[in-house]
Amino acid sequence: MPILRYLGHSACEIVEGDVRILIDPFLTGNPAATESAEDFHPTAIILTHAHNDHFGDTLEISRRTGAPVVAMHEISDWLIERGVNSHGMSTGGGHTFEWGWVKLTAAWHSSTYITTDGRLLPMGTPAGVLLRLGDRVLYHAGDTGLFGDMSLIGRIGIDLAMLPIGDNYTMGPDDALEAVRLLQPRLVAPIHYNTFPVIAQDGEAWARRVTETLGLPAVAPRPGGEIRY
Ligand code: ZN
Repeated sequence: MPILRYLGHSACEIVEGDVRILIDPFLTGNPAATESAEDFHPTAIILTHAHNDHFGDTLEISRRTGAPVVAMHEISDWLIERGVNSHGMSTGGGHTFEWGWVKLTAAWHSSTYITTDGRLLPMGTPAGVLLRLGDRVLYHAGDTGLFGDMSLIGRIGIDLAMLPIGDNYTMGPDDALEAVRLLQPRLVAPIHYNTFPVIAQDGEAWARRVTETLGLPAVAPRPGGEIRY
């Protein structure tokens, strides 16, 4: 049974046996993070998109550990140009790695990256992530607005869905509730909230609302907290 550790904002570490997967490892400069980048030795890093609050410490962690970065083609090409081990994919494509299966889904958002010298680089389109480790499927929605095709994404049978609820840049609590209705996951948890004042939300109240209105289990771990799924 995989264990997901919520690292604050949208960063998660998923551990299943010897496999350790990092998604959107924004740790340095993340006011919600309880750990630092050098604590991690992942098998692979998966990125939903290139915004700096998701790309985070990807370069440092991958260069130090050699962990491959699974990301949209444009991000992957940029990483490979810089000597970083990376596997490019695109929307709707799945791939089986030695350690598990990944499919990138659609997400309604954008995907730019600000370099250390302040340049804004376009990095293709953003994605959500389906990750199967063992027989369990995680859906990490990345940053996105609500869209009806979430009902198609849910047909795979999602064991745990991590959904943004922060509003302003992504779905807010009401739309995220509708997303749960479309996805019908076995368990759901909120992400991308409370890191900055503009995305302040009550995650525990939202989780209660999911259970009360949809009858589905929901949890809101604090940064550093774990979910077994
Ligand atoms: Zn974003």
